[in-house]
Amino acid sequence: MTTENTGGDVRLTGISKTYGTFTAVHPLDLSVPAGSFFALLGASGCGKTTTLRMIAGLEEPTTGTVEIAGKDVTALPPYKRPANTVFQNYALFPHLDIYENVAFGLRRRRIKSVKKQVEEMLELVELGPMARRKPHQLSGGQQQRVAVARALINHPQVLLLDEPLGALDLKLRRQMQLELKRIQTEVGITFVHVTHDQEEAMTMADTVAVMNAGRVEQLGAPADLYENPNTTFVANFLGTSNLIETEVAEATGDDLLLKAGDAKLRLPAQRCSTAARTGGRILAGVRPEKVSLAHADEEGSLPEGRNRITGRIADASFVGHSTQYVVHSPAAGELSVYEQNIERDARLVPGADVVLHWNPAHTFGLDATQDIEAGTDIEEGS
Ligand code: ATP
Repeated sequence: MTTENTGGDVRLTGISKTYGTFTAVHPLDLSVPAGSFFALLGASGCGKTTTLRMIAGLEEPTTGTVEIAGKDVTALPPYKRPANTVFQNYALFPHLDIYENVAFGLRRRRIKSVKKQVEEMLELVELGPMARRKPHQLSGGQQQRVAVARALINHPQVLLLDEPLGALDLKLRRQMQLELKRIQTEVGITFVHVTHDQEEAMTMADTVAVMNAGRVEQLGAPADLYENPNTTFVANFLGTSNLIETEVAEATGDDLLLKAGDAKLRLPAQRCSTAARTGGRILAGVRPEKVSLAHADEEGSLPEGRNRITGRIADASFVGHSTQYVVHSPAAGELSVYEQNIERDARLVPGADVVLHWNPAHTFGLDATQDIEAGTDIEEGS
């Protein structure tokens, strides 16, 4: 089923928010294409909810403008904007049944014949058989779907979702992520989704804006952000990165040759941010799943041309599909390696001397003047 409305684009120009002397959102330009699923991702307090609330009209910007579907809505109250918000606590009416909760927006506009639209919406969120139940007779995920149906029945061009899955347990969250994505594809309107959960943002969104301390630190498609982080914050906040402090030994040709202790690493020049290239030091990054682990005995038989670092296994955690190792390396400090459990070498246990090796093409280079730990100490839900 599809609804007849289509999405509107959202354009923020120079939008900012200060509270007294505190700047919650620094002047921000952001363009969300019509019909896309856009996620604002960041840790608690980074300004993502404030940004969403400025789009909704629930917060007045200190500077800047908000346009939705080509129209400047900065001065309009929330109910006059072609946008609806779904909140984390769902805000359903407890005394009304599901049908009436969904019908609410139509009844308020004094629309008499609501049956067809309500039934369509209940079908969209797959809650038809539950129409006569009260909210407390539904699970958290089902209540969430009612909240989405209740917002969508108003035919907004943009649906704003503020941590809508925050109250659900992990398994249900994962199910609802797929469900919300399906609904968005079906109705085709623009979704702007706020979350602190990087997996959630990557699973659902076409484009993710990673926010840090009131600024968008990087924006892009999930795989692009993951593979090509521009800053240590993005590298650490989106998944896990090994960041190795290195000195540039040679910078001619297509590759940079880097030195970390006694290890020599190659980094494709094109995978190195411009800022990083100007200094003599670079943070060389590689994702844990890109690294392979071999027992020190096998060093001689490893293929030529791989980046290599030696170390000793400090910890090994078996997690079913993979084993996650922590390796101490004199040249690079503590490194993480995720090895798929295909053929496990029984010698790879804590205390074993090992060689970490990877394809140099999987190395990225970051500006070494940044905090190497940025984004690592943020707990989910903090
Ligand atoms: P969370 O996930 O915890 O909601 P967030 O990234 O959505 O975090 P915001 O709610 O946008 O963060 O808040 C950004 C910053 O602005 C926070 O430091 C917060 O304390 C501050 N802030 C928000 N509202 C106000 C207010 N009314 N007065 C003063 N400071 C505020």
